[in-house]
This record gives sequence, C-alpha cells and structure tokens, in this order.
Amino acid sequence: MTHVMNTYARLPVAFARGEGVWLWDTGGRRYLDALAGIAVCGLGHSHPKLTAVLREQVGKLIHTSNLYEISLQEKLAGRLAAISGMDNVFFCNSGCEANEAAIKIARLYGHHKDIESPAIVVMEKAFHGRTIATLTATGSRKVQAGFEPLLAGFVRVPFDDLEAVKRVAESNRSVVAVLVELLQGEGGVNVCHEDYLRGLREICDAQGWLLMLDEVQSSMGRTGKWFAFQHSKARPDVMTLAKGLGNGVPIGACLAAGAAAQQFKQGNHGSTFGGNPLACSAALATIDIIEQERLMENAVAMGDFIRAAFAERLEGVRGVKEIRGMGLMIGIELEHPCGDLVKQALEQGLLINVTAENVIRLLPPLVISREEAEQLVAILAPLVTGFLASQSAPQAAAQTA
Ligand SMILES: *Cc1c(COP(=O)(O)O)cnc(C)c1O
Repeated sequence: MTHVMNTYARLPVAFARGEGVWLWDTGGRRYLDALAGIAVCGLGHSHPKLTAVLREQVGKLIHTSNLYEISLQEKLAGRLAAISGMDNVFFCNSGCEANEAAIKIARLYGHHKDIESPAIVVMEKAFHGRTIATLTATGSRKVQAGFEPLLAGFVRVPFDDLEAVKRVAESNRSVVAVLVELLQGEGGVNVCHEDYLRGLREICDAQGWLLMLDEVQSSMGRTGKWFAFQHSKARPDVMTLAKGLGNGVPIGACLAAGAAAQQFKQGNHGSTFGGNPLACSAALATIDIIEQERLMENAVAMGDFIRAAFAERLEGVRGVKEIRGMGLMIGIELEHPCGDLVKQALEQGLLINVTAENVIRLLPPLVISREEAEQLVAILAPLVTGFLASQSAPQAAAQTA
C-alpha cells in the first residue's frame, strides 16, 4: 500500500536515469521524452554542464536564509532583469507561488490607489496553479470543484478577446490588473492573436491596470524567445516564471517593472527556500546554457519541423482539428477525447501528454535534435491515425447497421 496521497493518476512506469531527451525506466527500457517533466527540463536530462555546476554548488552551500545577503540571488535577479527588461524579482519555489506574489502585488497596488476591494481580470481556460488564490484564478471547474469558498476579487473573461476586457473596463471600477497566459498551456496550447498583447497593453495603460503575464510554462526559450511576450513589442508590468527556470531544481520567480516593482516593502512577502544558493545556481547555469547552445534557435527550428511534419503526416486525416503552438510548445487538437494515446505512446517508448481532454501536448527538451524530432513524429503520427480510425469505426458500424 502506498503512503503517497492519491493526487495523481500515475502511469505504470518509473525512471531510473536520463540523458538528453532520453529516459530509461527501472527495467532498462528507453523512452523519448517529449514532455520534459511538463516544460521543466529544457536542457534535457543530466546536462553535463548543469550537473557540474550543481555538484560544485552542493559541495559549497545549499541554503542559508533570506535573512542574509545571497550573492547568487542578486546575480540571478540581474540576469533575469537583463534578459526581460523588467526591474526586479521576488524568488519563490514554484509557479503557483510566483502567481501568488503577482496577485499580492496587484492587490497592494489597488489598495495604494484606494480601491477597497481590488479585482483581477482572468481568462477562461487559464491555469495558474493549485493554491486557493491561483485555483480561483484558474479557468477550470475541475481544478476548483470541492475547494469552495473560492476567493473574491477575480473577474473572468474569454481568452484572446479584447472586447470582453474592454467591457469589464467600462463596467467595473475595482479592477486593478489583468493576469493572462499569452500561450495557454494546460488549457489546450491555445495561441492568442498577434495583436492581443499590444491590445491588452493599451487597455491596461488607459485604465491604470497592471498587465501580469503568467509565463510559467511559456518562458525560458520554449517558444523561441526567452519569454513569449518578446514575440511582440509590448512589455508586461509583472511576469511569473517557474517550470523551465531551474531545469528541475525547484525555483519560481515573480518579476516586476515600474510601479509594480515598488509595491512590496520589507515584511510584505517572503519564502524560506526562495532564491537559495542551490536554486539560483541552477537557474544561472540554465540561462547560460540556453544562450551558449543557441537553444532558442533550436526550439524555433525543431518546433517548425515537428509541426510541419505532423501537418504533412496528418493531412486529410478525419478527426484532426488543428496543429498549433509556438516553438517547442505544440498542441495537436483532435475531435475526440484522446487520453488513451498517452498510454499507447508510452508502450511505444514515447512520453507525451494530453491536456484539455482532446489536445495532444508536446513539450520536448529544447536540446532535441532533428533526428530525435523525426523519431518523435515517426512514433506518434501512426498512433494518432490509428486512434482516430478506431474512433470513427464504431460510428461507421452503427451507420451501416
Ligand atoms: C504549471 C503552471 C503553473 C503552476 O506551477 P506549479 O509549479 O505547479 O505551482 C502556473 N501557471 C502555468 C501557466 C503553468 O503552466
């Protein structure tokens, strides 16, 4: 009997080691990892440079306390500010915590403007985490059900709909911020229109709202830029990071610029582990390696290749709705719930994910090679066509009966 709480439907496989995009299970069988621990291991597994940095840091110092100066934290904050154009950073340990910090900044910002009950605009199908505040911000009943009462102070609108945000601006005087994933991950790899960010920026500027981007999944080179917002010209006031930041060493960050960067005063927020020497050394090394190995360029090239290869292999196949994404954040939407494909792929030695019930989600390590990308497509494409054929078969049989 397991003593682990039953919060995950786990696949019947356990991994013993990894190298690059490959994982080996406890029986020695090899798998192509097209999920990277859910967009975490951008450098792949056991990256030799990261391993060396971590080994050295563990031998020196793992943790002190935020009661003292931490030079690696200062260095990482400077590096993140430089690559993002943001002003300052609060460090925590996960995505939901980074979003909690963002929500607290927005509420402080509102109270400083004498708004008694500040509200944040959030999106349908959004995912922001599993704490009470972030599950309230999340646009999924499945995530929220059973955890009522939810928090006050959130207003929901459809994703990628500027008019809906404008209508809120006209009717609700309590709003202080918008919190949005430019590229929704858990919600089904939903891509926004090109002018969405600029439009949100204009509304936020006109209303005096903070524009807060949840880039927990879409950052650290995954879409071909450090951050997804960098595909457009506008900049956010607040941005949250986690997943790919430490390549698996837990670290989250909430970055802020302008007025948002000045909200927290001493004693307003904190985290025991946040920004400790081990986590910061992991993130610094991750940033260095992404740059040195030109992994953002690779993410664009391999993402384009994988999407094009699936478009070709799945062309005209009934039941394929759309192939979309940016860089190595890829979604293949089918017309049927397709959770079964995860198990089928596992049996073929391929790790994938299905989200929003009918969207195959691929988040391979940024180090994936052309040959490995070809292998991914070669395994998955026939599984998809086979799965879709089996889905339409009963209907066809029913029609002839
Ligand atoms: C995964 C994720 C989170 C939550 O991160 P945790 O580290 O699991 O708390 C928040 N926002 C987005 C967009 C995510 O993908």
